[in-house]
Amino acid sequence: MKKVYSADNIVMPGFIKNLLESCNIDCIIKNQNLAGALGEIPPIECWPEVWIINDENLAEAMDIINSTTRDNLQTNTRWKCQCGETLEGQFSACWHCGAERTS
Ligand SMILES: [Zn+2]
Repeated sequence: MKKVYSADNIVMPGFIKNLLESCNIDCIIKNQNLAGALGEIPPIECWPEVWIINDENLAEAMDIINSTTRDNLQTNTRWKCQCGETLEGQFSACWHCGAERTS
């Protein structure tokens, strides 16, 4: 058993679990009920955690999680176009000059 992911909400751990299971990596979520019961952001030791059952899946699991969380980060981050316009993360091209997102 290895912990591969934790977050201050249950949405991402649930998403990660589904993702890993779709890649045939057995995993469980710990602290799932605890976080919901508190009704506020729990202390970090109570965050929902995703654990993989088989340690040999660790490298593959981390690859999947890293690429997923990086993608999420990118789509939520504002970016600045070459023309100087600042755009919200969900836009992949500049509405001002039409340039594709490069960063
Ligand atoms: Zn532009």
